[in-house]
Amino acid sequence: MRIDCITTFPAMFDSIMGESMMKRAQEKGLLEFHAHDLRDWARGAHRKTDDYPYGGGCGLVMMCEPLFAAVESVLGYEAGALPEARAGHDGSTRIIFLAPQGKVFDDEMASRLSTAERLVFVCGHYEGIDERAYSLADDVISIGDYVLTGGELASMVVIDAAVRKIPGVLGAERGAETESFSDGLLEYPQYTRPATFRGMEVPEVLLSGHHGNIDEWRRAQSLARTERLRPDLLI
Ligand code: SAM
Repeated sequence: MRIDCITTFPAMFDSIMGESMMKRAQEKGLLEFHAHDLRDWARGAHRKTDDYPYGGGCGLVMMCEPLFAAVESVLGYEAGALPEARAGHDGSTRIIFLAPQGKVFDDEMASRLSTAERLVFVCGHYEGIDERAYSLADDVISIGDYVLTGGELASMVVIDAAVRKIPGVLGAERGAETESFSDGLLEYPQYTRPATFRGMEVPEVLLSGHHGNIDEWRRAQSLARTERLRPDLLI
């Protein structure tokens, strides 16, 4: 998969994309990642990407012009070609805007995005983005009902959740298919050594080596935990 992020703060991606699983995915050749500075497509000496809102109000709004130019250039279209040039596209490349008004992100969306060949994320900042730029979006995604300073963190949440579902990223030892939400339930409780810690014991069944009993216990725990903490998932 190839992922491009269009942002006014490209350095924000360095640590998340340069560590842990996201780094390993790139080293294994399963992910190609690029963060692009929107200012590279801004005009004038000041490389301005935002301006005052029509109608008044506080803050600055990200301008259409550099956003359209950036998406066109990153995807290899001629200037002025979008959005018409993508009419009837096959969905293997998706342009994603992060915004509080978007569809709230979940595991199903992460699975769907993990099968795309290419994802282009557009990260808002300041007071948001000129509404006309959303005509470029295939998906508008929110990561929850709160407001972040910018779309960079939100895009990294979406990228992490999608990329770890690409076959081979987590490695043979751990599959994303056994985790919370994959079967509509929360995951069962996990324990590691020592077996006793400050008077707290690891459940006996997990020390028994009896795989049938362990599977049964885990399934029951998973159900009980979901009923207690997230009954909405069982409806
Ligand atoms: N004025 C906007 C509003 O009230 O809806 C909020 C703009 S926010 C300060 C700046 C940018 O952060 C947004 O354009 C978006 O890209 C990103 N952002 C903020 N909250 C987000 C969320 N919950 N999910 C995804 N992106 C978010």
